[in-house]
Amino acid sequence: MTKEEAKELKDKLGYKNDNGWLKADKDSVFEFAESYKSFIGQCKTERETVKFVKEEFEKRSKKDDFFVVNRGKCIALVRLGDGFGMKLIASHIDAPRIDLKQSPLFEDTELALFHTHYYGGIKKYQWFNIPLAIHGVIVKSNGEVVDVCIGEDDNDPTFVIPDLLPHLSHKVQDDKKVKEAFEAEKMNLIVGSIPLDEEEKDAVKLNVLKILNEKYGIVEEDFISAEITLVPALKPKDLGFDRGLIAAYGHDDRICAFCSKEAFFDADSKKTIVALMVDKEEIGSDGNTGAKSRFLLDVVIEILKRKGISPDFINVGEFLKSSEVLSADVNGAVNPMYKDVHEKDNASYINHGVVLTKFTGHGGKYMANDASAEFVGKIRRIFNDANVKWQIGELGKVDEGGGGTIAKYLAVWNMDVVDCGPSLISMHSPYEIASKLDLFETYKAYKAFYESD
Ligand code: MN
Ligand code: MN
Repeated sequence: MTKEEAKELKDKLGYKNDNGWLKADKDSVFEFAESYKSFIGQCKTERETVKFVKEEFEKRSKKDDFFVVNRGKCIALVRLGDGFGMKLIASHIDAPRIDLKQSPLFEDTELALFHTHYYGGIKKYQWFNIPLAIHGVIVKSNGEVVDVCIGEDDNDPTFVIPDLLPHLSHKVQDDKKVKEAFEAEKMNLIVGSIPLDEEEKDAVKLNVLKILNEKYGIVEEDFISAEITLVPALKPKDLGFDRGLIAAYGHDDRICAFCSKEAFFDADSKKTIVALMVDKEEIGSDGNTGAKSRFLLDVVIEILKRKGISPDFINVGEFLKSSEVLSADVNGAVNPMYKDVHEKDNASYINHGVVLTKFTGHGGKYMANDASAEFVGKIRRIFNDANVKWQIGELGKVDEGGGGTIAKYLAVWNMDVVDCGPSLISMHSPYEIASKLDLFETYKAYKAFYESD
């Protein structure tokens, strides 16, 4: 066999997992990335994302489209189509962050501070001494809802959780395990430092309360009925001399939500298509806005009603059973400094395209949605036919750790579900890294799925 013949045979028989840039339409990829950067810079909470998507729906929806919102934190975009069942792309729009406690404000050592309670799987040390912005809602006792967003504008003040200086951290931090060195109860946010003249005790705290009352009309008790979160006050930026990557807060999983929304509006679909965006994935998908809630059933019931079909128990079940789902979530790309946590032949790589993950979970596939070979085969065919750059990806070595997505909560309805989304470097950090190429291929993959039979 000649060298050429061997190469030809390798091309024909081997699974190729390679870099997508050399064959990419760079202009389209870069243009798409700009609209994503605008979205990800504005949507830093689930509520802000729902609001953004709703506004976009008003501008871009077609005549058979409608949406359903759940408590301002979940949204489903629906385009009615032929037949029974739907093509569903489901993502989550919450992200790891720092929440405030319900009685947050206190004074210590003449500084006013907020107590916090972190949300989701974070490495605590990453959140000290970075600029944080305060986002959320405060519901006053008269029912009035006050929106809060401070720390994003260049003229706004910023907020910081102060770490300990290295000169004095030997015993308290340096000699400990990382997990123990940074305590949740020490993650307090500095919010003020100037005392009110006439007060003696807690005069700095009182001054902050006075400012909050003047600006938002709130009193201290109003914090009890508030959802206020701290998010990185960092703007999305191109990363690298060649600008191929995007650093931003909240790629996980709003990058998938964005791609599903774009695919939804652009798709030339025949079947009923749905872009579902849910809350609470980062803390287990529980609660009335998580993937375990009944919201999806409410959406299906609305679809059946609008199609003139009785939304009874049997029809809802049959409709779900006839549906196909991409569980749209991110994967962990190989970080060159920490290759050892991956097994190279089944890991996903930045710039190698959208990732198809047959199962998630941990250990012996515990807690996994293990998609069937038939369904993975169908999705593979759809992607290949649409010239989508895709790869497979298992989250780390067996027994190295693991993680889950909402896939298994969707699969309980007897739908075919497989995980599919881009791979990130530094997932769950305040400034996650995504690839522009993978972003665009994810959009192409979702659009091809919506347009498939
Ligand atoms: Mn996720
Ligand atoms: Mn996550």
